Amino acid sequence: MTVLDIARVRPLADRATTMPRSAIREIMMLAAGRSDVFHLEVGEPEFGTPDWIVDEAFRAVRAGATRYTPNSGTQRLRAAIAGRVGAKFGRGVEPDRVAVTTGAIGALFSAIFAVVDPGDEVLLPDPGWPNYESIVHLSGARAVRYAQPAGQGFLPDPAAMERLIGPRTKAIVISTPGNPTGAVFPRKIMEEIGRLAVRHGLYLISDEVYEDFVFEGEHVSALEVAPDDRVIVVSGFSKSYAMTGWRLGYLVCPPTVAAVAGAIQEPVTSCPSAPSQAAAEAALAGDQSVIGRFCDIYRRRRDILVEVFDDSSALPVVPQGAFYGFIAIGASGERSLAFAKRLLQEQSVAAVPGITFGPQSDGFIRVAFTVEDSRFREALRRLRGAIG
Ligand code: PLP
Repeated sequence: MTVLDIARVRPLADRATTMPRSAIREIMMLAAGRSDVFHLEVGEPEFGTPDWIVDEAFRAVRAGATRYTPNSGTQRLRAAIAGRVGAKFGRGVEPDRVAVTTGAIGALFSAIFAVVDPGDEVLLPDPGWPNYESIVHLSGARAVRYAQPAGQGFLPDPAAMERLIGPRTKAIVISTPGNPTGAVFPRKIMEEIGRLAVRHGLYLISDEVYEDFVFEGEHVSALEVAPDDRVIVVSGFSKSYAMTGWRLGYLVCPPTVAAVAGAIQEPVTSCPSAPSQAAAEAALAGDQSVIGRFCDIYRRRRDILVEVFDDSSALPVVPQGAFYGFIAIGASGERSLAFAKRLLQEQSVAAVPGITFGPQSDGFIRVAFTVEDSRFREALRRLRGAIG
């Protein structure tokens, strides 16, 4: 074989290598292995899954929950989720409208891949969770950002959203309570967005993973404001039950979408993990007061955030839900990535640069309410000092 016979290895897939990465993971890597760091970068609390859920999952595994399940999850879990959602919103939900997924991220992946073709457009929030854009990118569709400016309480303007809708638009993604903002969409805005979806024949993909953590006002689900044939609600167990590592989420959507979303899981994960599905069943069947206790913890930390930034313009909007604060760093004169790196280097506080949530969000940094109260207060004091 001569040198000329050896062909150069062909390049990796363009779509994979150009996928935008989340800076959440980047900061996490920089902070990894440092015992002195205040970890406010990942949306995961310092406490773990309640013992009774863990115990029940182990019991179920010993009893045989170790095998493949149907693509969309076990019939029992789908029925239990349908029951929970139905009870919450005072209406019947059929189990064939539920697809169980690998984390809420799996639900988003399946939902977006179920509805878009390459070249389609999807409306995404700015600021918004970066994984939305990564999924849209992988699908070959195009992300079109709508603004949620601080001056508007980090809420969208449905009229401005409507101006972005074109012939290739397939879906609108919303997030309430919002990550990274903690904004909770009022009923009026939800209804207007629901009407938009109807007028333009779009799917409304509503990420409601923080639905159980609302400090003021009410959580309004997309299920309440738009017809069943176009609403796709994404939720899961990671946040409500502190079950991030179990990787269990779900979709509530039209049966046709649930069937396609389930089928899409076959070549990706086959099905959600059986032990985790058993844990999720236990979570739904057990004492639901844990959710209220978690919510109280996050509300208390939200109050600490308000106390530390009380007389400062760095907290333009008080979070009403989820467990994040989106802090304005304009006074520092720095871009958000440089600021986040300096904050970590000099103050040992890990937080996420706003730019990762969208091009209009570079003037902010996100903190998660994920360390115990006194450490949280100290980390925020350091953050405030670093802004100047
Ligand atoms: N949606 C939002 C807005 C999130 O913040 C997260 C996780 O941080 C998810 C979805 C994904 O949740 P899961 O861990 O269940 O995949």
